[in-house]
Amino acid sequence: MMSSMRLLWKNRLIALKVWIAMTEKIYEALQRASSLLEKKGLEPHTAQMLMEFITKKSRATLFSDVREPLTEKQHQDFWAKATELLEGKPVQYVIGEESFYGYTFKVDDNVLIPRPETEELVYGALERGRKMFPNKSIAVADIGTGSGAIAVSFKKEWPESHVTATDISEGALEIARHNAVMNDADIDFRQGDMTAPIAQRKWDIVLSNPPYIAHAEAEMMSGTVLDHEPHSALFAKEEGLYFYRKLAEDLPPLMNNPFLIAVEIGYLQGPAVHKLFQDAFPTAYVETVQDINGKDRIIFCKTCE
Ligand code: SAM
Ligand code: GLN
Repeated sequence: MMSSMRLLWKNRLIALKVWIAMTEKIYEALQRASSLLEKKGLEPHTAQMLMEFITKKSRATLFSDVREPLTEKQHQDFWAKATELLEGKPVQYVIGEESFYGYTFKVDDNVLIPRPETEELVYGALERGRKMFPNKSIAVADIGTGSGAIAVSFKKEWPESHVTATDISEGALEIARHNAVMNDADIDFRQGDMTAPIAQRKWDIVLSNPPYIAHAEAEMMSGTVLDHEPHSALFAKEEGLYFYRKLAEDLPPLMNNPFLIAVEIGYLQGPAVHKLFQDAFPTAYVETVQDINGKDRIIFCKTCE
């Protein structure tokens, strides 16, 4: 039997926890979570993203309301999810969504979390495509669609286009289908290896952000990416170049005239991928474009004007 002294202390502890839960203010919980994250070498600002999600407040409102106490439910939810952050899980998986090109995408561990660099691929493809294709009802394929970020945002920005999106992973396609419905984008999803599901016709635009990290680079990657994101979305054979070699081999007979291809690349892969596409399409204009950080990030390959 528990001694009455121990019972008394246990009750006091419970009362203390309830009191903290009832009185912890937004900024107090934020400070506590941020400093715990920092001590573990994790990103402290993810606590704020989590708080915005839990309180359903925008960043601006959150700052004006920092002195508000959390409700007991908010407090419980915040700390349950903060525990996942402290285990190194990416904040986007913890809250289950990420925004991309101004649209919201559901994400889970079946899909890569869409990256801001990839928004630049969508932007660049739209910009070039609009100049090249006055007939707007073009055929577009996104190979390795993951969450559907590229396909869905392209379709939203160019509603007359017919967009097909593929992935080898059925788990990824399930999330991508959900994201297409959630964003009211009509997309034809197909499961299969690289160009296999799109080989029965020709295309005006092909987009792809394939896996491109060399296996040897794994040791330099952060645990948040390496331990949580699907390796089938990250790593590629042949020092990360496998998928570009396959695309350069398979795409020439599948492209219309004119055509545009846009692929995201790793920042050291510019010269190698440029050569692969220039060799495969000798008369095309191939350009290597840098991302906002000045790193080689996208290869565009298109018919010369
Ligand atoms: N397009 C998404 C984006 O930009 O956020 C996801 C890109 S992720 C780097 C690469 C995707 O390619 C993953 O969803 C993965 O499942 C898919 N993939 C891997 N191998 C593939 C293959 N052989 N054929 C088709 N898709 C593949
Ligand atoms: N940009 C991603 C990363 O650095 C990799 C995406 C990819 O392999 N296509 O984690």
